[in-house]
Amino acid sequence: MIDFNNLKIAFADKSNADLNRAYFLFKGMNIPFVSKLLTGLSKFALKLQLPIKPIIKATIYKQFCGGENIEKSQITIDKLWESKIGTILDFSAEGKESKADFERALKQTLASIEKAAISDNIPFSVFKPTGLCKFSLLQKINDCTSLSAVDKKEKEEYEARVNTICQLAQDKNVAVFIDAEESWVQNAIDSIVEKMMVKYNTKKALIYNTIQFYRNDRITYLNTLLERSEGKFFIGVKLVRGAYHEQEIERAKINNYPCPVHLKKSDTDRDYNQALNICINNIDRIAICAGTHNEESSQLLANLINEKGIDKNDHRIYFSQLLGMSDHISYNLSFTNYNVSKYVPYGPIKDVMPYLIRRAEENTSIAGQMGRELRNLVAERQRRKNL
Ligand SMILES: Cc1cc2nc3c(=O)[nH]c(=O)nc-3n(C[C@H](O)[C@H](O)[C@H](O)COP(=O)(O)OP(=O)(O)OC[C@H]3O[C@@H](n4cnc5c(N)ncnc54)[C@H](O)[C@@H]3O)c2cc1C
Repeated sequence: MIDFNNLKIAFADKSNADLNRAYFLFKGMNIPFVSKLLTGLSKFALKLQLPIKPIIKATIYKQFCGGENIEKSQITIDKLWESKIGTILDFSAEGKESKADFERALKQTLASIEKAAISDNIPFSVFKPTGLCKFSLLQKINDCTSLSAVDKKEKEEYEARVNTICQLAQDKNVAVFIDAEESWVQNAIDSIVEKMMVKYNTKKALIYNTIQFYRNDRITYLNTLLERSEGKFFIGVKLVRGAYHEQEIERAKINNYPCPVHLKKSDTDRDYNQALNICINNIDRIAICAGTHNEESSQLLANLINEKGIDKNDHRIYFSQLLGMSDHISYNLSFTNYNVSKYVPYGPIKDVMPYLIRRAEENTSIAGQMGRELRNLVAERQRRKNL
């Protein structure tokens, strides 16, 4: 059993000031009224260009982001690596819609691959498909809507960007995750990622799709992918529960179609854990990253690795959490020699604000996690006081 309660290990590289900052942040985020008020005020102040950036930078940005660019994230990368935790550099400019923004996201992803290629402590790169083209275009592709001449050109450009990233990933031998998004664009994402897997995963898994197990059809999807890949290509998957639960339910209700996600948390948990079993049983053909802050699933994966006699540091199996969250899982797993990496979002403050606001607002669907972060911080502060 992994002792996730070993807080001395979990917070070994955090100063008292770090713990205090995290404590006050999570305390605020744990109270929906305070969280809403603060995020609302921040959005308003940024719109009016009030000078609140230094406050954001010293608080929520410091907790959840690596730095304003790749170079400035180096301190975070090195600090994580002192505990043998790898970094996944995540350029976190969300909700952008212009060609210049897509080209900028492409450039950043390529730079992150170049950086990973020369760094032992960066095992993967990542990108979000909606960072490379308009959300509305993905939706049209998803729905097989007939495309205008402009749409067709934009589609070609988007596919070329994805291919450029995957080609560089192959040239530099760096694995790349492609994030999953809302179900109404996910078929379009799955289809291009599968094309990339066929093309680039012939010798090993370099291109990873992301599967969200709050979706009620994803075990079937995983099994079908296994069938389709047999003898043709290696599969790479990041396994997550899914970040858009409330939006999925709401949209299905408004548009009167069958809800694509589980309504009971236990059903999501069951499918997630079943997927871990399926993947480990097929580890000769699948490489996985368990992107989760769930202790039971993390323990289950560790048990499966041990039961199957797989090396703890087998390059095909990674655990991953977000920077600033669930350190008790990341640090205790890496302390016991499992492969662990953290998503390290980076970018200028104004660009990563949507990501930070999502972190603050997400606490309704992961309420249990916020309480747990807070309890761990209180306990560690107390442990240090008692020394
Ligand atoms: C490294 C990493 C990468 C990620 N990448 C992506 C990504 O590409 N795409 C993406 O969508 N998300 C991504 N996520 C977020 C992830 O999907 C989850 O939202 C988040 O990690 C919380 O789930 P959990 O497994 O950590 O823990 P838990 O706290 O055990 O689970 C919370 C999750 O359970 C599900 N859930 C909550 N309530 C219910 C309910 N009533 N019925 C059914 N299900 C419910 C929701 O998915 C919720 O997020 C990523 C997370 C990590 C750590």
